[in-house]
Amino acid sequence: MTFGYQYAISPTDEQKERLNRAFGCERKVYNEYVAHLYTELEASGFAGGFIRHKVPNYTEFTRRFAFLDRSNDSFVYNDAKRRFQAAVQKYNETFARKPIQYKKKARNRMNTEGYIPSIRDIKGLPQFHQKKNAKHSYTTNQTNQNIRVIHENGAVFLRVPKFPEGISLQLHRPLPAEGLLKKATIRREGERYLVSLSIDFPSEKVEKKHNVSANKVIGLDYSQADLYVDSEGRKANYGRYYRLIEKRQRRMNKSLARKKNAAPLDENGTIQYSRTYQKQMNAYRALLAKSKNQRKDFLHKRSYQITNEYDAIVVEDLDLTNLAQMRKLGKNVHDNGFGMFRTMLQYKAERNGKHYIVADRYFPSSKQCSQCGHLHDNLSLSDRVYVCQNDTCCTKIDRDYNAGLNLKHYGIRVLKEQGMTL
Ligand SMILES: [Zn+2]
Repeated sequence: MTFGYQYAISPTDEQKERLNRAFGCERKVYNEYVAHLYTELEASGFAGGFIRHKVPNYTEFTRRFAFLDRSNDSFVYNDAKRRFQAAVQKYNETFARKPIQYKKKARNRMNTEGYIPSIRDIKGLPQFHQKKNAKHSYTTNQTNQNIRVIHENGAVFLRVPKFPEGISLQLHRPLPAEGLLKKATIRREGERYLVSLSIDFPSEKVEKKHNVSANKVIGLDYSQADLYVDSEGRKANYGRYYRLIEKRQRRMNKSLARKKNAAPLDENGTIQYSRTYQKQMNAYRALLAKSKNQRKDFLHKRSYQITNEYDAIVVEDLDLTNLAQMRKLGKNVHDNGFGMFRTMLQYKAERNGKHYIVADRYFPSSKQCSQCGHLHDNLSLSDRVYVCQNDTCCTKIDRDYNAGLNLKHYGIRVLKEQGMTL
C-alpha cells in the first residue's frame, strides 16, 4: 500500500525561482504535447471518438527549445508526458463510448448559425494549460536514493534532483521509519510550497477480528447535509462546517468577478488584470487549498476515530461517480467528501483488522423499518421522518437514523453468515 505524507517546504528565493521555472517548463512541454495532438487530429480529419495517438518522447520537444535543458530534473519533462497520457486516457474512457459531444457554446452556434465545429469544440480533449490556472507542480521519482529527507544541525531538508543543497522542510509529523520513499511531488499553492512524499509499505495482511459484538458494529448512512448519520443517530457535523468555508469562498469569488468585469481591455480585447486582482486571486487559491486541507483533515480524524472505536463499519454502495443518478436520488454530492471518507474508512479498517462492509446496491436501507422490517414503498425523498406503515409497529424515527440502523443490522447479518455469534 502507498501512503502520501505531505509537508510544507520553505525554499529560499533563489530556490523558489528555480522551482517556478521547473513548473513553467512542465507546462511548456505539456502544451507542446497538446499542440502536437491537435495538429495530428486536424490532419486526419478527426471528428470525435477514440484517440489512437502515439505519444512521442519528451525529447521530441525539449530539443527544439534551448531553455528546456538539463538544468531541470528530467522528471519535469517526463511528468508532462505522464500527465498528457492521463488526459488522453481520460478522454478515451469518458467519451469514446458516447457519440461525439461538443461544448455548449459551439452547440448553440451550430444550431443557430450553422457553425461548423472544429476539433477545439469537442468536449473533454486535453486542453492547453494556461499560466493563470495551471497546476504548479511536478513529480520526481526515486532512483538511487536521489530523494531523501536529511537532518542537519537540528534542521530538516528535502533533497531532490537539482537541489542537492536541500530545501528546508517542516517535519510536523515524523516520516515512518519503515517503508520505501517512491516519489516526491513538489507544488505551489498560492504562496505556499509543499511536498507530498509517496511511501510504499509492504502489504502485510492483518487478520480480521473474529469475535465482534453487536455494539461494536456501526452503520453510516450517507447524508447530503451532514456527510453521514450513524446508527446511534449521531451526525458528522460536517455540513455546517462545510457551509462556513463555502460562504467565504462565495464572497471572494464575487469580489473577483466584480473586479474582472471592471477591468480595462487592451487593444486586442484581452483583460488587463490589476495587481490587486492578482493578489486577491492568490489569496483565493490559498483559501481553496486551505479549505481542502481542512476538509481532508476532518475526514482523516473522523475515520480514524470510527475505525478505532468500532470493529465493523457498514456503508451503502453508492456510485459516487454517477452524479446524474445521485441527483435523482436526492443525494447531491457537492464535493467528493463521502467518496474520500469511504476510502479512508476502508484502508484504516483493513490496517486495524476491522471489518469494512458495503451493503448491496439494492439493499433498501431507507425504505425499510429498522424496528419491524416493514417496507415503506412510497417513502418520498422529502420525508425527513420515517413513519412505519405497519399498524402494529408505527415507529416514528429520523429518516437517516433509520437507514443507519438498517445498515448496522445488515452488517450484523453479514458477520453472522461468516460464522460469528453476535
Ligand atoms: Zn415498523
